Amino acid sequence: MYKKIDEKIIKELICIVGEENLIADRDKMVDYSHDELALKEIRKLPEIVIKPKNEKEVSEAIKLCSKETIPLTPRGAGTGLCGGCVPVYGGIVMSFDNMNRIIDIDQDNLMVTLEAGVNLVDLYKAIGKKGLFFPPHPGDESATVGGLIATNAGGARAVKYGVVRDFVKGIEVVLPDGEIVNIGGKFMKNSSGYSLLHLLVGSEGTLGIITKAVLNLLVPPQVMYTLVVPYNNLTDAIRTVPLLIQNKIRPVAVEFMEQGPVKITEDLLQKKWPCQEGSAYLMIIVDAASEEEIMKSLETIGQICLDNNAIDVFVADNKQKQENVLNIRSQMYEALKNYMLEILDVTVPRAEIAAFVTDVHRVEEEFKTWLPTYGHAADGNVHTHIMKYKCEKGSWTEIEDWQEKYPLIRRKIHLLGKKYHGIVSGEHGIGLVKKEYLNLFVQERQIEMMRQIKKLFDPHNILNPGKIFDL
Ligand SMILES: Cc1cc2nc3c(=O)[nH]c(=O)nc-3n(C[C@H](O)[C@H](O)[C@H](O)COP(=O)(O)OP(=O)(O)OC[C@H]3O[C@@H](n4cnc5c(N)ncnc54)[C@H](O)[C@@H]3O)c2cc1C
Repeated sequence: MYKKIDEKIIKELICIVGEENLIADRDKMVDYSHDELALKEIRKLPEIVIKPKNEKEVSEAIKLCSKETIPLTPRGAGTGLCGGCVPVYGGIVMSFDNMNRIIDIDQDNLMVTLEAGVNLVDLYKAIGKKGLFFPPHPGDESATVGGLIATNAGGARAVKYGVVRDFVKGIEVVLPDGEIVNIGGKFMKNSSGYSLLHLLVGSEGTLGIITKAVLNLLVPPQVMYTLVVPYNNLTDAIRTVPLLIQNKIRPVAVEFMEQGPVKITEDLLQKKWPCQEGSAYLMIIVDAASEEEIMKSLETIGQICLDNNAIDVFVADNKQKQENVLNIRSQMYEALKNYMLEILDVTVPRAEIAAFVTDVHRVEEEFKTWLPTYGHAADGNVHTHIMKYKCEKGSWTEIEDWQEKYPLIRRKIHLLGKKYHGIVSGEHGIGLVKKEYLNLFVQERQIEMMRQIKKLFDPHNILNPGKIFDL
């Protein structure tokens, strides 16, 4: 169905991006055959990788793909967790390494205009110098603006500030026929027809290639504190979360986690979690405009936690202590990564999260496995890790029959997501590996409408084919 890339096409691609921006060596393309998802089975080498320098080169390259029917897969930093940037049909992988300019930080409008290849580290640094703040904070700061928009990334701070979609005000997109279009702009309101902007956000590189974006910025909060609250069991910890919300606390983040992954991460980083007691924890981040305001919130939070069986409340009140806690939380994935098969992303209404996680642990017992589960408690986004190995007292052992158990556990957890009125993905996207679960959560009629939209944007199905749903 797709044409193979031959010498003639390579020459044309070199004319577009320059020889130094094209990779054809198989060894050098291995990094482009996968994302952060651990599953080796889904890896696929592209035939060619190109690194355009601007939107015109992007446009020329995709026009060529359209003419010759060659699949093209956009790739940011490859930190995705569902195989979204894996070139399943081969063809071209387009990397944005050469499109990483911050074009303008507009202090009057509090907006930044930047290219798709800018990563979060550089974005935070550049706007931080101007005293500005981009709240979304997905766990891997090497992720690019293009990838963040294409997946509608979330992260821990979504509870108070929202997800990436809430901050994207405009995008420059190259459509599969090569036309460059500008959608949205530096305005805070827009009621002008269907919102193509919101359609493109979260479209996982299947409808258009994002080349530039305009992001809304905020002024950072004056003070921020992080609390670590230990409990004797996870149920008590998670049950506290809706009570915080009901008591009008608006935390920046509420993360839940269990002792096992915390200990493994402490060992990996040689850092200490602030408390050793308890088997489950809440990590609560609060911010405010003044010390006085934040102290009131801390008091209320502390009391609610203690009233609900918390063992203690630890406050990380300086930058170093806060960074220590955040570092352990954000490196948990790294600590488990080499021993796991997949990290799931099921999201349930937040009032259901305790019941959902309790059932996940029942599945763990049923399959005699280990399913370390942590996540964003206040937005119902639960990351269960399906493991190949389990860690007991610091040593790892292979889980018996993990190959046979894997698909069964995966299905059971998604069915639990359904039981608790959730959704298959809260922030990672569907990509390649969650397609089979989309219709469990989304009506067939809606998926059919998505297919029609895909056909309208991309009639030859050349842009990131094989993702979200099959045509
Ligand atoms: C340790 C760790 C923690 C993470 N924590 C979070 C988290 O808290 N919240 C969260 O939401 N995610 C999280 N992620 C997942 C990941 O970081 C996000 O999905 C991120 O948005 C991916 O960005 P990327 O640049 O790496 O994109 P990639 O992985 O390269 O690509 C992701 C998708 O975007 C498409 N794409 C990339 N660039 C473009 C473009 N310019 N135009 C069109 N499509 C494009 C790709 O085709 C693909 O479908 C985490 C990942 C890791 C490894």
